[in-house]
Amino acid sequence: MVLSVIITIWSLYLIAIPFTLNAVHMFSFDTPLANIPSIKKLTLGKLERLEIFCVRDMLYHFPHRYEDYTEIRPIDSLAPDEKCTLVGKVINIKAGRTWKKKMFLTEAALRDASGQIRLIWFNQRFVAQTLKPEMQIRVSGKVSRDREGLVMQNPAFERSGRDATHTGRLVPVYPETAGLTSKFFRWQLTGIFQKLKEFPDPVPEEILERLHLPSLKKALFYIHFPKTEKFSLLARKRFAFDEMFFIQLKALQMKALFETAKGSPLTYDEAALKKFIKTFPFTLTDAQKKVQEEILADLKKTRPMNRLLNGDVGSGKTIVAAMAAFVAAENGSQTALLAPTEVLARQHFKSLSKIFKETHQGIALFTGNYRILDGKIVTRPTLLKAISAGIPKIIVGTHALLQNDVAFDNLALIVVDEQHRFGVSQRARLQELSYKSLDGSKEIVPHFLSMTATPIPRTLTLAFFGNLDLSFLDELPKDRKLIITRIATSNSEREKTYALIRSEIAKGRQAFIIFPLVEESLALKEIKAAVAEHKRLEEEVFPNLKIGLLHGKMPARTGSARGGKAKETKEQVMEDFKNHKYDILVATAVVEVGIDVPNASIIIIEEAERFGLAQLHQFRGRVGRAEHQSYCFLFPHQEAQSINERLKILEKTTNGFAIAEADLGIRGPGAFFGTRQSGMPDIAMENLTNMKLITIAREEAKLILSEDPLLTNHPLLKEALQKFEERIHLE
Ligand code: ADP
Ligand code: MG
Repeated sequence: MVLSVIITIWSLYLIAIPFTLNAVHMFSFDTPLANIPSIKKLTLGKLERLEIFCVRDMLYHFPHRYEDYTEIRPIDSLAPDEKCTLVGKVINIKAGRTWKKKMFLTEAALRDASGQIRLIWFNQRFVAQTLKPEMQIRVSGKVSRDREGLVMQNPAFERSGRDATHTGRLVPVYPETAGLTSKFFRWQLTGIFQKLKEFPDPVPEEILERLHLPSLKKALFYIHFPKTEKFSLLARKRFAFDEMFFIQLKALQMKALFETAKGSPLTYDEAALKKFIKTFPFTLTDAQKKVQEEILADLKKTRPMNRLLNGDVGSGKTIVAAMAAFVAAENGSQTALLAPTEVLARQHFKSLSKIFKETHQGIALFTGNYRILDGKIVTRPTLLKAISAGIPKIIVGTHALLQNDVAFDNLALIVVDEQHRFGVSQRARLQELSYKSLDGSKEIVPHFLSMTATPIPRTLTLAFFGNLDLSFLDELPKDRKLIITRIATSNSEREKTYALIRSEIAKGRQAFIIFPLVEESLALKEIKAAVAEHKRLEEEVFPNLKIGLLHGKMPARTGSARGGKAKETKEQVMEDFKNHKYDILVATAVVEVGIDVPNASIIIIEEAERFGLAQLHQFRGRVGRAEHQSYCFLFPHQEAQSINERLKILEKTTNGFAIAEADLGIRGPGAFFGTRQSGMPDIAMENLTNMKLITIAREEAKLILSEDPLLTNHPLLKEALQKFEERIHLE
């Protein structure tokens, strides 16, 4: 007994030895970089800033370009400005400070069979320590000419007996951060490739064969160590496929889940709906009618709707959502309508209250600061109780509605306005709400309608919203006057614009003046500019008018204002502007895209060139929302042909979809989905409009899911897909 235990322990020990050795000497994709002795602690911190934590992350840190140093040239053939590689012997090393003592200079000469050339390094002490006379080295760099003749300044070099890492090849250049050079990445990656045995490939071999794509191992090697450009391109093709394949797998899985989920079929009485529609102060546009039909057809089904309503600004999405909510209420079920901010939630609440006035459907407002039921302010517990008892049929709210203690009686429809503006965790909670029964339980999954006011080019929708059914509201109500749009570049045009503002305001209208959004780090500067401009306008330009100011550093609402003195809040300023307490609103780009101030008829956008076209179109949509003739003036800060040409597109068209397509062509998909916001990898971004790739990836995803819907037989793929999901957020 004792003996057998000893033997067992002993044999375990024997087995354990090679494993521990392996663990020390060999890497896997998951090896933390902290376990790699050649990476110092300080460096780890810098890598973390690039979100590089393990070997896999490092391998997926792709070069964004290559320097072509493949050509090795005899020294006597060189001419200035050539980029090339030389191989030869080091002679005449000199090192020291320059006479002004400003720089540490290392100078040497390189000699090959054909001749010799000077090499100079500035402020690189290690060069002087590394180079030894007679050493055979390979150098890559650019040839230039100074007073003493041809010279190579700061060339990369390594011993010629070594494998080519920094010289003599297509040398990769990596996205860098302070303190992490391309040289570091090249060096580390060389080491990693030597110690990495397994390259578990998530994509099944037969797919790779069918599409003539390299294995993961090859692709990773080709992208970091391409022999020629052909290899790096092949690698990028493979990674582009991977990303799109994952996107499509995820989308199709979500779609399938929705299709098998149980929803509550919502039926309706044609006559009642017609009567409801008759109460609107306008007739529906053809686009609204078409979309309404698409939505109502979905609601009737036993599986839940999962639809994106993609509509131009002012195309009338709210009323479409209201019709769906009406049908739900007719069935005795509840609708939750979520808006990204309090202002928007209250605006929706007001318009829905108006729309439903005659139907007597209970409507509630539930935000962090406001709880309203049946037109009265109520406490949070009261409203929670009412919602769980099914009393209000339509509940408008912000993310406050996503809190865990909010329980509905029978939630049949979720409408989300501007879903992309919700935070990641809120979106996760939304998914929880809408995907409740995805684990196979029999719970009812509510119908889901997502609305976006950024017209998304149709070419992008399959890549991004492959899981959703799409509806397009691409027509504006007929009574709209075309907004007159002008690019103003001169001072006299500016004066004319101010004059127009004065005369419009004299007629009772209001105006927006928008300043560009700048990066977070410059927020203070932005505010200073807005505050200064507010002052200038108040004192010099419009001394007789009331001018409000709105910027990103103001507290959102009273509750969030700290300190004794009650500060003006964004909410309040916005509300005051709506109620015409100001004639002009000077705002940084924080001004709500969905805000509805029908009385505003002029919008000026300063430094317009800093916005994308789709965004400018959004701003323009703040005016022209009623019967008044409206104007949009774009004031570019810089003057350039290209800027004007881009902005002119806005002068020419008011169709949001056409503008979106143009923006896509000019700025690429990043114009619609910031990389950081979506978590989209660069390679995927570059390929979001590559229809051929998207189609192929979707077909392959369909094929594999038709045989293995949960990817149980493809564990590596399943795992990779999970990791991918953590990185990117699909709608
Ligand atoms: P958005 O699509 O930008 O959210 P809204 O739903 O806020 O647009 O509608 C913009 C304005 O147009 C609202 O004042 C709304 O009452 C009005 N509206 C909606 N549909 C029509 C229509 N068919 N005819 C005229 N006005 C309409
Ligand atoms: Mg809206």
